[in-house]
Amino acid sequence: MTESVDVVLIGGGIMSATLGTLLHELQPDWKIVAFERLSDVAQESSNPWNNAGTGHAALCELNYMPQNGDGPLDPAKAISINEQFQQSRQFWSSLVEKGVLDAPSSFINATPHMTFVRGEKDVAYLKDRYEVLKEQPLFEGIEFSEDSRVINQWAPLLMQKRRKGEPFAATRVPAGTDVDFGALTKQLFDHLSDSGVDVRTNHEVRSLKKQKDGSWTLKYRNSLGRTPGRINAKFVFVGAGGWALKLLQRSGIPEIKGYGVFPIGGQFLKTTNPAVVSQHKAKVYSQASVGAPPMSVPHLDTRVVDGEASLLFGPFATFSPKFLKNGSMLDLVTQVRTHNLWPMLRVAFANPDLITYLLGELVKTHRKKVDSLRVFMPTAKDEDWTLIQAGQRAQVMKKDPKKGGILQFGTEVVSAADGSIAGLLGASPGASTAVPIMLQLLKSCFPEQYAGWEPTLRELIPTYGHTLNDDPAAAEKSMAATADALGISK
Ligand SMILES: Cc1cc2nc3c(=O)[nH]c(=O)nc-3n(C[C@H](O)[C@H](O)[C@H](O)COP(=O)(O)OP(=O)(O)OC[C@H]3O[C@@H](n4cnc5c(N)ncnc54)[C@H](O)[C@@H]3O)c2cc1C
Repeated sequence: MTESVDVVLIGGGIMSATLGTLLHELQPDWKIVAFERLSDVAQESSNPWNNAGTGHAALCELNYMPQNGDGPLDPAKAISINEQFQQSRQFWSSLVEKGVLDAPSSFINATPHMTFVRGEKDVAYLKDRYEVLKEQPLFEGIEFSEDSRVINQWAPLLMQKRRKGEPFAATRVPAGTDVDFGALTKQLFDHLSDSGVDVRTNHEVRSLKKQKDGSWTLKYRNSLGRTPGRINAKFVFVGAGGWALKLLQRSGIPEIKGYGVFPIGGQFLKTTNPAVVSQHKAKVYSQASVGAPPMSVPHLDTRVVDGEASLLFGPFATFSPKFLKNGSMLDLVTQVRTHNLWPMLRVAFANPDLITYLLGELVKTHRKKVDSLRVFMPTAKDEDWTLIQAGQRAQVMKKDPKKGGILQFGTEVVSAADGSIAGLLGASPGASTAVPIMLQLLKSCFPEQYAGWEPTLRELIPTYGHTLNDDPAAAEKSMAATADALGISK
């Protein structure tokens, strides 16, 4: 017999965890089942060692406010990312207060966000960026310095044994955070499980078929006993990370036509040497190399996982045809359809810099990788740092009316016109903006219920519907309240 439920969540990552939690708060009477093919949740991109744990708020990432020739710098994108992160901060604060999440230090820690650049051109750009951002309420507290003594106080490893005569500068925002998205995901799923949501690990969804009444029948397999099963759901969320494309293609919805994904893996150098780790407490981002995708900008980060601090540097790009770390070698080729072949070919021809960058990354030896780190930290020793393999990013390629096909570095929700199924493609800014992404998804897939949900949403996200950056008093109040609730800086 086929069991029937209201909602099926496919995938045990931060996106399903966030959507499941929102739906459970909004509609506690709905029956929800979550499927995860691996033996536990948060084992792919949401695992703390598979991502960089940056609470992306555009405090330090230059790609959200790039130089545009000689024109003035536009803060719109940076403000929008920061607004989105404030929603995540508010949601997590409410969940801590409700007892859904554990002590905040188990998943979020205050870690100043810095940007460090070298060379006259980049120093001038960073200064201009600072001048624009310091006027924005959400970036209050941003500091700029070209003084080695000041930067040395902020992040001594950047300054020790640095060559004299080279111009450099840094900005710093104390309100930055390091987030363990794996711990967050696990805590959210634990709560869902305790509240009656059926979380089935070791269960892989294999196919999806639309029924005449608009619902979906999913076939799944228990990967331990290999026993098959069927389930019917009124709404399906495909939160399958890199495999979302594959499942959306299997669903047959026309909205997925023209989409493909390109996998880019990542590696980080990691050290746990206490003598090094104790000298750095920041996430320091810099400029990307030529051809590097925006999310590949190098950064030297403090990470706190399970209460233990370490430093990560990277990412270094790697290549594998798999769309998930535990994916299939056939992922890249089996995604090809007549409708996405041309957009994908156009992307390949239009991005020679990316291909050159990837090839350059693939041939880097350990020493060369530590050389890249030495640009940040001149005293880095090869033997202190080991290489760890991070997650796979499945970057979106899609049809474009003008260019034929484009490579897109953000995330994109693809949903059926009737709102019965939706999935998330892409990676960046990712986990940090899970809350606003899922709110947007709820709005488009549940238009009839959404207005009735808004009062609860305002309880969970007090400034929901307001643009904080346009209201300095509200921005100040929100940042102070969430800093207090999460034990982080304003
Ligand atoms: C190298 C790297 C660095 C990053 N750095 C940051 C950062 O600093 N800050 C940030 O905010 N974001 C960062 N991200 C992005 C962030 O990690 C992702 O956006 C986020 O974790 C995606 O969550 P998800 O739930 O969509 O996918 P995932 O966490 O990948 O979860 C998808 C799950 O679906 C399961 N699954 C797949 N197919 C099936 C199926 N058929 N049946 C059942 N289960 C299935 C998978 O096993 C997996 O557990 C980074 C990503 C990478 C790769």
